[in-house]
Amino acid sequence: LGLFGALAPALVYWYGAHAVINGSLQIGTVVAMAAYLTRLFGPMTQLFSTHVTVQSNMALFERIFDYLDLVPEIEEQPDAIDLPRAVGRVEFDHVSFRYNQHRLALNDVSFAVEPEQIAALVGPSGAGKTTTSYLIPRLYDATEGAVKLDGHDVRDLTLKSLAANIGMVTQEPFIFHASLRDNIAYARPGADDADILRVMDAANLSDVLARMPKGLDTIVGERGYRLSGGERQRIAIARVLLKDPPVLVLDEATNSLDSESEYAVQSAVSKLLAGRTTIVIAHRLSTIHSADQILVLENGEIVERGKHLDLLTLGGLYSRLYERQFTSERAPASLAEASNA
Ligand code: ATP
Repeated sequence: LGLFGALAPALVYWYGAHAVINGSLQIGTVVAMAAYLTRLFGPMTQLFSTHVTVQSNMALFERIFDYLDLVPEIEEQPDAIDLPRAVGRVEFDHVSFRYNQHRLALNDVSFAVEPEQIAALVGPSGAGKTTTSYLIPRLYDATEGAVKLDGHDVRDLTLKSLAANIGMVTQEPFIFHASLRDNIAYARPGADDADILRVMDAANLSDVLARMPKGLDTIVGERGYRLSGGERQRIAIARVLLKDPPVLVLDEATNSLDSESEYAVQSAVSKLLAGRTTIVIAHRLSTIHSADQILVLENGEIVERGKHLDLLTLGGLYSRLYERQFTSERAPASLAEASNA
């Protein structure tokens, strides 16, 4: 159509010029003809390109509806229990789990975390720490055994009440392309600004807010104001503080932050842990020191468990991991102390 649109006036002028010379047409008629032709081609091209737009959008719709029609693997029982606010006892009762046919990611894992206590999961890469943390909020269901909250198998609870009772802070929290207010309030829709400012203060985000050009209305995320790694983690902490669930699943960040940001995150985390049952994938020395129990995982099994000093004395996997992963933190800590002094 584009090519024809460009050639047609040329043809009209060529044929028209001959006709004018022969005296069978007037020059005005030829010019008018060429002008009207261009007016005709615009709408015609638009009409045909609509067809192309409709076709490509139909393909997009198909993909969206395929996605919406997916049946979730995690289903709620018809007679599921609607658990009000849990006391917060988390128990793994002989839990085994496999992602696929090949290999058990967790093998006969049993432990219990009493309300308001902290259990730290440590172990080499691929040991099953993340998998353990995924089974608590039912991101996956145990293949064998049961994960229990306040004595109820999590599969017997309504998904809504389970979600309301568990907060998660992952290593890479997702920040939506939305205002700072919406990014925090989505943990508890309807929260007012006073609540949002309170949790931002507790998560050491007040100085970040002061720097924002439009305060709580500043658009952050993908194409908005860019937040640093430490700031994103503190947003995730503020979300959980706002939601205030009795159980917390925390995957501590492995990425190193500068010492000021590190301090801000650590002090926010310590406020987050207060009064909550916490299962933490520990990467910080201070976290394993404050843990009520440390569970050492290797190849999907708990190979050692106990308190920090007992496990160090044991001289097994934990003491080796501790030497390798955690003792390097001592140097900066003492340097910081030295500079403070
Ligand atoms: P890291 O410290 O590296 O995060 P981890 O202890 O958290 O390791 P998991 O992520 O729980 O380990 O993985 C346990 C095992 O399950 C690994 O062998 C891993 O390859 C496997 N695994 C993890 N996620 C999946 C998945 N989505 N599909 C298949 N296998 C998986």
